[in-house]
Amino acid sequence: KRTPFIAGNWKMNLDHLQSIAFVQKLAWSLADARHDFADAEVAVFPPCTDLRSVQTLVAADSLPIGYGAQDLSAYDSGAYTGEISGAFLSQLGCGYVIIGHSERRTLHGETDADVNAKIKAAHRHGLVPVVCVGETAENLEAHGPSAVPVAQLRAALEGIDGSKGLVVAYEPVWAIGSGQAATPAQAEQVAVALRGLLAELVGDEVAQATRVLYGGSVKAANIASFLREPNVDGALVGGASLDIDEFSSIIRFKK
Ligand code: 13P
Repeated sequence: KRTPFIAGNWKMNLDHLQSIAFVQKLAWSLADARHDFADAEVAVFPPCTDLRSVQTLVAADSLPIGYGAQDLSAYDSGAYTGEISGAFLSQLGCGYVIIGHSERRTLHGETDADVNAKIKAAHRHGLVPVVCVGETAENLEAHGPSAVPVAQLRAALEGIDGSKGLVVAYEPVWAIGSGQAATPAQAEQVAVALRGLLAELVGDEVAQATRVLYGGSVKAANIASFLREPNVDGALVGGASLDIDEFSSIIRFKK
């Protein structure tokens, strides 16, 4: 049984002061609702400059909220101006790190080989990678729904030790920030294909234990329909994770 995972990718929004206010409100909201963490594990992915503040808050009150960075360096240290080592994220108590988000791939030229190296870096530092894959509208037209995400995941996981843990996020590029989410059936179809590939690459046991998320225009109004699909184990939420009421409703998808 896989515990659903609701992850908020803040992208480049909320500075460190705003992150404190948001995480406090999130903690109150979870407490208020007597949230059952067997229903959904919750994590936020703030900008790196917020992580120390989030760590302080989460640690001080032992908040049941996970957190991680939106990217990391493939290297552990050295002359890589502007990069952030997985070692530093680990020191800040991060449990997770997003890798290969489509915005990194398209705006920053990240390749499948970069994604692969970053997953290995995450694993070296005890971080669980949230590996993003997804096709563009043109890919969808040319190759159908699963081919590109499956090829991206195959390349991403080359030589990876599956026992070190991972989360996979299927995020169709055409659905991100567009208000045009995939249908639950589309998400399920790709999630099944991705889990099948996981079974081939890292074995059936790890494949069955690995959470496959859907991302792309998830909101309170559609989250439950995705989580009814047997192979969709949660969501990577962008825009709707910045609104405390909306994000709280997403987490309470069962209610
Ligand atoms: P939106 O939820 O804003 O569509 O963004 C999805 C996303 O990219 C999460 O990583």
